[in-house]
Amino acid sequence: MHTLRAARMTSDPIIKPDGTRARANMPDYAKAYAAFSWADAERDIDGFGDGSLNIAHEAVDRHVAAGHGAQVAIRWIAKAGDSRDITYSELQDLTNRFANVLRNQGLEKGDRVYSLLGRLPDLYIAALGTLKAGCVFCPLFSAFGPEPIQSRMEIGQANAIITSSRLYRRKLKGIRGNLPDLRTVFLIDGDEDATIDLNAAMNAANDTFTTERMQPEETALLHFTSGTTGKPKGVVHVHQAVVAHHATGRLALDLRPGDTYWCTADPGWVTGTSYGIIAPLTNRVTMIIDEAEFDVDRWYATLAREAVTVWYTAPTAIRMLMKAGASAAKPHDLTALRFMASVGEPLNPEAVIWSNNTFTMPFHDNWWQTETGGIMIANYAAMDVRPGSMGKPLPGIEAGIVAVEGGTLRELTAPMAIGELALRPGWPSMMRGYLHEQARYEKCFRDGWYLSGDLAMRDADGYFWFVGRGDDLIKSAGHLIGPFEVESALLEHEAVAEAGVIGVPDETAGEIVKAFVALKPGFEASESLLLELTGHARKRLGPAVAPKEIVFRQNLPKTRSGKIMRRLLKARELGLPEGDISTLESDER
Ligand code: ATP
Ligand code: MG
Repeated sequence: MHTLRAARMTSDPIIKPDGTRARANMPDYAKAYAAFSWADAERDIDGFGDGSLNIAHEAVDRHVAAGHGAQVAIRWIAKAGDSRDITYSELQDLTNRFANVLRNQGLEKGDRVYSLLGRLPDLYIAALGTLKAGCVFCPLFSAFGPEPIQSRMEIGQANAIITSSRLYRRKLKGIRGNLPDLRTVFLIDGDEDATIDLNAAMNAANDTFTTERMQPEETALLHFTSGTTGKPKGVVHVHQAVVAHHATGRLALDLRPGDTYWCTADPGWVTGTSYGIIAPLTNRVTMIIDEAEFDVDRWYATLAREAVTVWYTAPTAIRMLMKAGASAAKPHDLTALRFMASVGEPLNPEAVIWSNNTFTMPFHDNWWQTETGGIMIANYAAMDVRPGSMGKPLPGIEAGIVAVEGGTLRELTAPMAIGELALRPGWPSMMRGYLHEQARYEKCFRDGWYLSGDLAMRDADGYFWFVGRGDDLIKSAGHLIGPFEVESALLEHEAVAEAGVIGVPDETAGEIVKAFVALKPGFEASESLLLELTGHARKRLGPAVAPKEIVFRQNLPKTRSGKIMRRLLKARELGLPEGDISTLESDER
């Protein structure tokens, strides 16, 4: 089969100035990659000196012990705009109290503590206090309905949950009887029948606590995947993962002590925990947490007012900023920004170029999964950026492009060969299992590789390029076509805000390429725009790859974590069952 050369590789690289290189945590990627060992990385965290450790100790207590207690750990911004600062020292007290509250309620090491909360300080305190107590923390996204909440609590055998009265009444009360393991419900704002008033319990609790000494392989976190390709999986992570959280925060996000850092992800998704709680705190930054949802002006105002230095967000948000135009950024002083990164979905080259023009620095795309627990492939502060590329593997990570040939798995070494993106297992934040799905877990490993389920290519210089999810690859008239390729070309057109591309069965071609397009404000769906877009795509991609059919949509179906659900576009197109849609957000057809 003919594999496609990426049209997107035609953009010029963004060359980093020498000053930027010299200032980066990792000034020379190749040197750092060659010299790196996980044993060295482990020396950057404290541990308890006897082989045991605890994520919460690395995130909070050790900074207080080192004299940084007065530094602000969390600046929380309420929906209404008022803010609350929590220093490292206060965070230590509060998380100690929370750990004591758990103990006072009979929760022991290994018990599962869930949260169902918006981005409130209580969520962050509960996460770290749970880890201190040696319990397993599992954050649920607060917008889930009762059914997805119940299934996730069943899978993890939740023993306790912390939530609000409103969420409790609307979502939990009715299903509580179906959850035999659930012993304790904490409410952050009062109490109801058979619940605990968390505030009262916190006030009554002692503010000293001896953090549990955890073995490296003991479970710390349970995360559910985004459900983009099917039923979400419960992914198990251990305390040792903190070694990777810390190292990747430093190397891939360029985090430094004292930075003001804003990760816009909700802790209900792995990004919001690994890089919205753990990595920033272990690197002793001041984290900005915004309770509110995306809003163009609010976001720019927050970046400016808080003098954010490092910003980590996602392609959907970036595309919405692009939709609002560079003029929306103009009135704001964003000169404090030093580094911007993106994760969760492929970042279209157009978005990288746009950000470089708008902010005088590009968004740095990086790739990872709930399963990998931390960033695996990234564009680094000191590295030139090839727009549309995910970058290069992290020091300590060996990545390859593999395919089954003649019954065995082989690494494809030819530049730009399309294959499955695979990683050599063994980094600290690798998942230790899919909960209760051992067979599915084992299927991820073959011949010494972890198989990601994503398709990618590697160029001659070692940059990786995302092609699509394994399930999303389109085979049309002898060509392998990745949806990202086509979506990115469509996005270059000034009228296009978002695009989702699928393959539709066709008798002659096997499959044909079909695109769903949402327009920017000020553009109307019309026959002439359709012709223009078709022409643009053909010119950009060639007739074999350009969509045969383009349709306009108000919105594309997305997960609540902002990923385009191509499987749903396809199921609806073909009249097939929609499958698990528990994480679906917008549902306009
Ligand atoms: P599920 O596994 O339940 O279908 P999911 O794979 O979307 O959901 P996550 O673990 O949250 O769940 O997302 C990881 C996936 O997101 C990756 O496998 C990849 O497909 C996509 N992804 C993440 N970052 C990038 C990126 N920088 N470029 C391209 N794709 C990305
Ligand atoms: Mg996945």
